[in-house]
Amino acid sequence: MEVNKVGIVGAGTMGNGIAQVAAQVGCEVVMSDIEDQYVRRGLDNIDRFLSKSVEKGKIQADEKDAILGRITGTTDMSDLKDMDFVVEAVIEDLELKKAVFKELDGICRPEIVLASNTSSMSVTEIAAATKRPDQVCGVHFFNPVPLMRLVEVIRGYYTSDDTVGVAVALAQRMGKVTVDVKKDSPGFIVNRIMMPHFLEAIKIVEEGIASVEDVDTAVKNGLNYPMGPFELMDLTGIDIAYFVTEYLYKELNKESKWVSPNLLKSMIRAGRLGRKTGGGWYDYGK
Ligand code: NAD
Repeated sequence: MEVNKVGIVGAGTMGNGIAQVAAQVGCEVVMSDIEDQYVRRGLDNIDRFLSKSVEKGKIQADEKDAILGRITGTTDMSDLKDMDFVVEAVIEDLELKKAVFKELDGICRPEIVLASNTSSMSVTEIAAATKRPDQVCGVHFFNPVPLMRLVEVIRGYYTSDDTVGVAVALAQRMGKVTVDVKKDSPGFIVNRIMMPHFLEAIKIVEEGIASVEDVDTAVKNGLNYPMGPFELMDLTGIDIAYFVTEYLYKELNKESKWVSPNLLKSMIRAGRLGRKTGGGWYDYGK
């Protein structure tokens, strides 16, 4: 099925990024959130990103207007009823995601694919909240969506090959590289590799072995990674690192390697969540 209209649930960091890349390839987009202020913030983020692209000469001003003109914001999820494909990007909370999918299942046409941008959670369990589990898959975009090339396409237990085909075709049309995650296993590929690296970095700081800055300097220069683990957590949200860790601990047999360090919990309790606004690792100890 050709996808021309894309619905997005959640206008936050990921939702507005996915809305932008869908609109950039010519799709009509309806982006929903629970309050006007969040919808507005999502639309403003897209506007800001595109304005910078115009300043840098990457796109023309009229292209920016055309992209923005294809995106509509709403606080009423039933406005997604005519969509050809829907991506859920609400916070990483399984019960919330299940509730959103149940509602979407009632709103959207029965033949369309419903996809989740979950970072780690069970696509099978999310799909079970619907009457179309074969038409549910994971599409794990990375942050910032317009710049990061990978999309992990995840099969739940019942996900059909046709569903995967529709998701892969859309992601590739957006210019993304896709990988096929053949089993619905917590953390998929990238987070399964990345989370232990975050946790070790936090333990090194907690044990007083090195500072936040020096851990990042070591990783960037010793492993040739473009960002250190603390910079990356500050960008993506320290709360997300915590939610994903707790979920992997629970789902991967409570192995000790997935236990959250106390320092990570302290950052969450102190509300130092990264994402530029909430303080973060680079303010730690200051
Ligand atoms: P975010 O907090 O920036 O945005 C989530 C948005 O969802 C908020 O605006 C919130 O108001 C909205 N929301 C909550 N309940 C809703 C509902 N019932 N209906 C509509 N909107 C609702 O979160 P985010 O960073 O964009 O993460 C979204 C998802 O993407 C999570 O599952 C996360 O794990 C995943 N993810 C995040 C990143 C990242 O780097 N931030 C990367 C990959 C995947």
